[in-house]
Amino acid sequence: MTIEENAQRPTSNAERSIQKAFDQYVVPTYARFDLALERGEGSYVFDVNGRRYLDFGGGIAVCALGHANPEITQALVEQSRKLVHVSNLYYIEPQARLAKRIVDLIAPGRVFFCNSGAEANEGLFKLARKFGHDEDRYEIITALESFHGRTLAGIAATGQEKVKKGFEPMVAGFKQVPFNDLDAMRGAITKSTAAILIEAIQGESGITMATREYLLGLRKLCDEQNLLLLLDEVQAGHFRTGKFHSWQRILEDQDADFLPDGISMAKALGGGFPIGAFWAREKFAGLLSAGTHASTFGGTPLACAVALRILDVIERDALAENARQIGEFLLHGLRDLRRRNPNVVRDVRGLGLMIGIEFDSRFTGIETVKRLHEKNLLTIPAATSVVRLLPPLNLREEEARQGLCAIEEVIADLAEQEQREVRPKGVRRRNR
Ligand SMILES: *Cc1c(COP(=O)(O)O)cnc(C)c1O
Repeated sequence: MTIEENAQRPTSNAERSIQKAFDQYVVPTYARFDLALERGEGSYVFDVNGRRYLDFGGGIAVCALGHANPEITQALVEQSRKLVHVSNLYYIEPQARLAKRIVDLIAPGRVFFCNSGAEANEGLFKLARKFGHDEDRYEIITALESFHGRTLAGIAATGQEKVKKGFEPMVAGFKQVPFNDLDAMRGAITKSTAAILIEAIQGESGITMATREYLLGLRKLCDEQNLLLLLDEVQAGHFRTGKFHSWQRILEDQDADFLPDGISMAKALGGGFPIGAFWAREKFAGLLSAGTHASTFGGTPLACAVALRILDVIERDALAENARQIGEFLLHGLRDLRRRNPNVVRDVRGLGLMIGIEFDSRFTGIETVKRLHEKNLLTIPAATSVVRLLPPLNLREEEARQGLCAIEEVIADLAEQEQREVRPKGVRRRNR
C-alpha cells in the first residue's frame, strides 16, 4: 500500500516493479511514499529514475553526515577488513573507545550498546525495574504525545493511542501525563513509581521542546521522591540541536548541576549504520550486573568504528556549530514565511537542525510532504499537520537556501488554494 493516491509525478516501470515486489513479499507495516531511492551523495538522494532530491529528512534523523559519506565508507571498509563481529564474550577495543567518548560527552557513567532506539529504551526500562525492584517499585511515568519505540514495552511507554491499538493488553507499569506539566507529573507519582522518562524534544508528535523549568523541575522531583530521571535522546540527540544532547542545548550549560540518570541513543549515532546505546549515571550503572542484560550485536567492532569516525568528523568539522547556525538560518527563513502566510503556516519551532513546520490543520503533513516531493525536497511528516526537517549535520547554507525555496513554493501553492477555497464569512471551514 502506498501513501500516494493522487500522485502528480508519473510512476515509472522501475518503481512499479519494486512496488509490486513489496506488495507481494514485504509485511505491509509501512505506508510508503511513491518513491524508490537508489543512491545518495551528501545531502542529495537519487531515485531509480535518476531524479535528484535534496534530503531534509536524513532517513528520519539518522544520516548525520549525509549519504555515501566517503569517511564513513572508509571506516566501514577498514574495520571490516580487521573484524566485523566477535560477540560480547570478549573485550572489544572500539567499543571501549566509543563508550569513553560518549561518557566524555555527557558525564561520569557507563554505556550499554544495542542496535536501535527501542532496544536502548528497553535497557532503560530494565535499569528502572532493577532500581525499584527491592522496594516493589516498577512504574515508569512518560508523557502524552511521546514516542519510545515499537516493542511491547516501547508502545506501552509511548503516549499515543494509535501505536497501542490492537496490541493490548499493554505491558504493565507505564502511564502517561501531559508534557511540560510538572503538577501533572507530581500528581501521578505513586509508591510504585520507579522512574520518569521523557524526550527533551518530542519528535514524532511534531517537535515540542521541554522547557528549561520542566527539566529542572523533573530533576528536583526525582531527587525528592528517589526516582530515576530518564531521557530519550534517540531523535534529538547526537549534536542535531547544536549540543550532544538536546537537554544540554535547552539548558545551554547554565545549569551545571542538572544531570539525568539514564539516556537512550540510536538514530544518528551510527549515521545509518545500526547502533543504539544507553548511558547510565555512575551510581546506577552497576545495577545491570553480569548476566542481567545482553544483545548479540550490541557494540560490534564495525558499528563502534563507524560511530567513532562520525564523532571524529563532527568534532573536526565543527558540525555542532554548523547545525546550530544552519538551523538558525532555516528557522529565520521559515518564520519569515510564516509571517507572510499566517493562514497556511501556523507555527515554526525547533532547535538546530530539528525543525517542525506546523501547517494549518486543513493541510495534512503527508499531503504537504508529497507536494514538497514535487519540488524535489524530502521531508518527514509528523503529527497531523507538521512537516519535520531533520537534515544532515553538514548541510550547507546554499542547500538550506535551496530547501527554503522549495518550501516557499509549496506554501505559495497552498496559499493560492486557500484563497480559492475562501468561504463566505461565518461559515467555518471543516478540517479535511
Ligand atoms: C525513532 C525513535 C525511537 C525508536 O527508535 P528505533 O530505532 O526505531 O527503535 C525511540 N524514541 C524516539 C524519541 C525516536 O524518535
